[in-house]
Amino acid sequence: MTRETPADVRRNQVVSSLIPALDLRPFIDGGFRDPVSSAELTDLDPTTERTLAVLPTAGPRDVDAAVGAARTAFDEGPWPRMTAQERADTLERFAALIERDAERLSLLEATDTGKRLAGVRGWDVPQSLEVYRYYARAALEREPSTQPDVGTARVVVCAVPVGVCAAITPWNFPFACISWKIAPALAAGCTVVVKPPERAPLSAQALAALATEAGFPPGVFNVVTGVGDVAGRALAADPRVDKITFTGSVDTARSIVAGSTSRMPRLTLELGGKGANVVMADCDLDAAVAGTIDAMFDVAGQNCCAGSRTYVQRDIYEDFLARLVTAAESRRLGDPLDEATQQGPQIDRQHFERIDGYVKGALKEGASCATGGGGADLGGLFYAPTILTGATRGMRITREEVFGPVGCIYPVDGPDDAIAAANDTDYGLSTSVWTSDESFADRFIREVRVGTCWVNCFGYFAIEVPWGGVKLSGQGRELGLSALDEFLDAKAVFRI
Ligand code: NAD
Repeated sequence: MTRETPADVRRNQVVSSLIPALDLRPFIDGGFRDPVSSAELTDLDPTTERTLAVLPTAGPRDVDAAVGAARTAFDEGPWPRMTAQERADTLERFAALIERDAERLSLLEATDTGKRLAGVRGWDVPQSLEVYRYYARAALEREPSTQPDVGTARVVVCAVPVGVCAAITPWNFPFACISWKIAPALAAGCTVVVKPPERAPLSAQALAALATEAGFPPGVFNVVTGVGDVAGRALAADPRVDKITFTGSVDTARSIVAGSTSRMPRLTLELGGKGANVVMADCDLDAAVAGTIDAMFDVAGQNCCAGSRTYVQRDIYEDFLARLVTAAESRRLGDPLDEATQQGPQIDRQHFERIDGYVKGALKEGASCATGGGGADLGGLFYAPTILTGATRGMRITREEVFGPVGCIYPVDGPDDAIAAANDTDYGLSTSVWTSDESFADRFIREVRVGTCWVNCFGYFAIEVPWGGVKLSGQGRELGLSALDEFLDAKAVFRI
């Protein structure tokens, strides 16, 4: 008989007690409701490929009810009419409840997504709860600003909430992506309808239950878990939605934009990436190898800010590649609920096959595999950390987001070539550069077209610092004070 590991014990706890305690129905107008739609959604555990939960699924009529509740709560309810202090008190209570339940929420999130428990516990959940506190405080400081008189008129500019917000979120950071959107929206006085990812919906259901406990008035916070093409599409197309804040793929963003052009809601779009990771010969090689491994393989490569294109100055190319391969091959793949695991499984079979399709396609087109190149020995949905060489700049693997543990290494000739290569992409989310030459770093920062640039590091985020992309990586910003403005309109008053 095999002995139960601590990870098995945690999974049993999730399956036998944490998930059964959740209400999985749509959360509309302050309560969980039986959906009108009879369709169901099966939520799988990426680690075991077993069913975690079968959820009643929101359809167009459920979305209609949720948007109606959010609309009424905005037009007639207390939330937008409260003082910022009263809203801040509710958000503080919400954050305190998340803090109280942090371990339970971390276990749910790690099991549902296959992400490392250590990472979720250390970052996703604690960072998210601080985001609620941050925007609660930030909204308090948004007093109306008095301007110089114009003629005989006194002038005041007020910041007013934009209205009903649709928050549509992806599966790779379900908890954080919801929190980054609804915290500033709610602090601003908006009401929200969240459409969580169908591949990892549990954290949204858990947050909805805590919203009731925190005391949000009915209709302020609604959750419609359903299929993107049905529930997401209906939500994005609803004319009563004033603002859509979306994180996900470029293709879905195109469909959302196309479906809403006639009424032109305000948009925040956080989309994919194809991050460049530039390694110059004068860098600290050990730090660059460790940072490149994180950039390629963190979150099993299912990371919008993944550094999937690594450009290495030719003088150190062979040495760097050899070190990188050794580091990749020593990565510990395993159960994400085991604290020692460095890399968990991919989200599901379809996504695993998609990643493998990109790798096999690149090999067919002439790339070579330095390590990995398929499923890992563990089987299941574990994909081996993969490093490809010999890919050209025109290949699909270089141009498209793979969203898996796959990095390509390309030699570059020097600073000009490195900057041109980094910019040779339709995306512009984030990039890293590894160099000890301060003037090259300054030039790189100036010339690279991205939303975030990491110099001699990778993956830093801060609540106070705006996050978002340029080019196809999106528009608008999350985090930072400016994200509050994404949910506020300026109302100018001239008063005689
Ligand atoms: P996705 O676009 O498939 O889905 C995102 C959300 O949109 C899901 O909730 C989905 O159900 C919904 N959706 C799908 N079709 C829809 C439609 N027609 N109308 C409305 N909603 C619809 O993306 P995904 O696979 O869940 O997430 C991965 C993508 O997200 C990657 O491209 C990744 O880079 C990106 N991402 C970006 C950031 C960032 O900060 N820029 C962060 C995380 C993920």
